[in-house]
Amino acid sequence: MVREPLIDGHDRRISDLRVSVTDRCNFRCQYCMPAEGLAWLDRGEILSFEEIERVVRLLAEMGIEDLRLTGGEPLVRRELPRLVAALTKVPELHEVSLTTNGYLLERDAAALAGAGLSRLNVSIDSLQRDRFYAMTRRDALPQVLRGLDAVAAYPHLRPVKVNAVALRDFSELEALPFAQFARETGFQVRFIEFMPLDADSAWTPDQVLTGEELRQIIHAVHPLEELPREPSATARVFRFADGEGEIGFVNPVSEPFCSDCNRLRLTAEGKLRTCLFSMHETDLRGPLRAGASDDELEQIVRDAVWRKELKHRVGEPGFRQPARTMSAIGG
Ligand code: SF4
Repeated sequence: MVREPLIDGHDRRISDLRVSVTDRCNFRCQYCMPAEGLAWLDRGEILSFEEIERVVRLLAEMGIEDLRLTGGEPLVRRELPRLVAALTKVPELHEVSLTTNGYLLERDAAALAGAGLSRLNVSIDSLQRDRFYAMTRRDALPQVLRGLDAVAAYPHLRPVKVNAVALRDFSELEALPFAQFARETGFQVRFIEFMPLDADSAWTPDQVLTGEELRQIIHAVHPLEELPREPSATARVFRFADGEGEIGFVNPVSEPFCSDCNRLRLTAEGKLRTCLFSMHETDLRGPLRAGASDDELEQIVRDAVWRKELKHRVGEPGFRQPARTMSAIGG
């Protein structure tokens, strides 16, 4: 059934949905959660595969074209490839992608490829084993790189983007190794500015190493040329002038890209978030489990999207960090 497209109160068409399938994670990244982890949701609190599929099918009828599965760490959710297989059959979707820390990728690459996954984002903050360990509190870099090697065997699972969170006094030393990595592997590396969504609420502006600063470090050694920006894109993407690959910078703090935002998020327990920094959420799980019809759910979604925030207010007076952390939003 074709429904009216989803348009927010600022006349932006919403076509990108990120679904968090779990709040759990097997890493403990310094900028995300404490070493002891967080109080995880109980199994009954998170949406079942069937509930996720129903919401995705409905939103796809309302114009969602791109679906990204996130977490926590999505691959810790058992049988995730089964959910991927169901979602890739939703006719209106152009692509189904996944954001993962890569630790379980070697195990799941074949099943994900077989389920029809379109592309991957793999989060790696350092290519140096000790620094990777220092950031994630896991000695897991070799395992993650084996996961990337496993994905290489599935040419349709492209592009593979490698996302590194940029932190001052840490990522400056990662800039050139990641540039070399992008040039050698063909994976598109993207640095993402550190955002105030950490569990410790310890974020301060001076911890942000901007994309421009990283671009300059790389450009001084490997000249870069900027590529045209895709509509609603989050990254500024550059090609290496000598043609050896691409590198990107996601700069939500220093260069916000909210004006043509087309994104909507669904949390693991079924809350609709209209912005990464939303201070309000709309519950879908309650109506879903209370037997709401698709038309009733559609109205709830439309009302929420109509109130979608124009932009984030990071760095503005009065900005308040949302209570929900990145690990429970999923990016
Ligand atoms: S901060 Fe909010 S409005 Fe801005 S791009 Fe992200 S989700 Fe969209």
